[in-house]
Formats: sequence, C-alpha cells, structure tokens
Amino acid sequence: MLRFFHVGLVSVGCALLASCGSVEQTQVKDTSRTFTTVVVDAGHGGKDNGAFRRYGGAEKQATLDVATRLASKLRESQFHVVMTRSSDVFIPLDDRAAISNRQKNAIFVSVHFNDSGRRGIRGFETYYHSPAARNLAYRIQQQIMTLPGAVNRGVKTANFRVLRKAAYPAVLVECGFLSNRKEGAAARSASRRDNLADKIAEAIVDQRYGKGMYRAPSTASDAAASSSEHAN
Ligand SMILES: [Zn+2]
Repeated sequence: MLRFFHVGLVSVGCALLASCGSVEQTQVKDTSRTFTTVVVDAGHGGKDNGAFRRYGGAEKQATLDVATRLASKLRESQFHVVMTRSSDVFIPLDDRAAISNRQKNAIFVSVHFNDSGRRGIRGFETYYHSPAARNLAYRIQQQIMTLPGAVNRGVKTANFRVLRKAAYPAVLVECGFLSNRKEGAAARSASRRDNLADKIAEAIVDQRYGKGMYRAPSTASDAAASSSEHAN
C-alpha cells in the first residue's frame, strides 16, 4: 500500500508543461527489451510497516518475503539483481529510486500488498508511470492473474514517487489486500508468496527474452525459505 501517494491518475499533459514545476519528471530510458539488471524493491520496512491487518500481518514482512523469493528466481534466470532492502530496515522512497537509477540497463519492480477499510475489496493491481513500463506491467498482471482465486483490479497508471522518479521502466505490483480475509490469509502463506514471486519472475523473463523462456526453479532457495520463517 502506498498510503500517502494515492494521488490519482498521471496527467501526461501536465508532465510536459514546463510551468508545472511541482511535478518532478525524470527522463526514462526505455530498457524494457534490453535490461540485464532487475532492481527488486520490497515495499516499506523498519519503522514503516505499510498496511497492518489481522489477516495478513505487516505488509513490510510479506513484501520482503516475496521480493527475496523473486530476487532468487531472477538470479537463477541469469539476471543481475539488486534489492533496495534485504532486511527489515527503513529506506526512504527517494533512496529506492536512486538505488535503481545508478544501475546500468535496469528495470525496477516494487512489491506491495494492498489495504482497504472495506474488507470485501480484493484483487491484484499493477501500476506504472512511464509508457516504457506499460508492457511489463501488463505482463505481470496477466501472469499473477493465473494464480488460483485471482481477482483482477487491472493495470493502472499512478504518480507514485518510486515510479515517477525512476530513470528506467518501473512497475509496482499490489499482490492482494491484507484487509481481505482470503487475500490476507494468502499473503501469510509461504507457498502463495512463492507462487506470486514465480509469476512475477516469469513475466520479467517473458518481457526480456520472449514468451515461454522461463524455467521455474523447482524449489525455493534456502535463503528465501529461511526468510519466510522469520516473516511468519
Ligand atoms: Zn505498500
């Protein structure tokens, strides 16, 4: 969840106007078909729990576990992977973007879980800001929608800070609502987290190398497995 940054749809017109000084516009390099590095961003961390719900626990734990599993799968698919955090620490949003922007030939993938005051709301959402990230966003959404019980809330554009400040194609995946009984319970499940990571990894490999090139690792790595124990 990005509590403070749900500020509505991106205004492309505004971004093009020099007079619109409050919108910082980063020039995006379209590496969507050439990237060799994936920056994996586990949402929240440290003093920032993100969403915190009875069913799903703290968002920061779920995001770190999915992100760790995703990183491991991407490394097995021969990508260079940089995690913005690999433990329970607070990293400001600008620093996350900066970590990504100093890589060479990268994409940025941020992992979040969602939250709502209405417990009935559920589903997956994938966000992007630059048109260079549109394809990747659709591929990720399409892949996670193949998971059992998946509900589609669609691919959306948003002016989230980590997306807006990204110099490379950047997406943010909302892996279900912690406020929903069913999706919150799913978010606590190590196998569901592994499946989420697997689908996101497959979408990234498809984006880079074409459909059907992903070889799912047979088992989660020890590192991912042990971090899920801490997360639970
Ligand atoms: Zn979040």
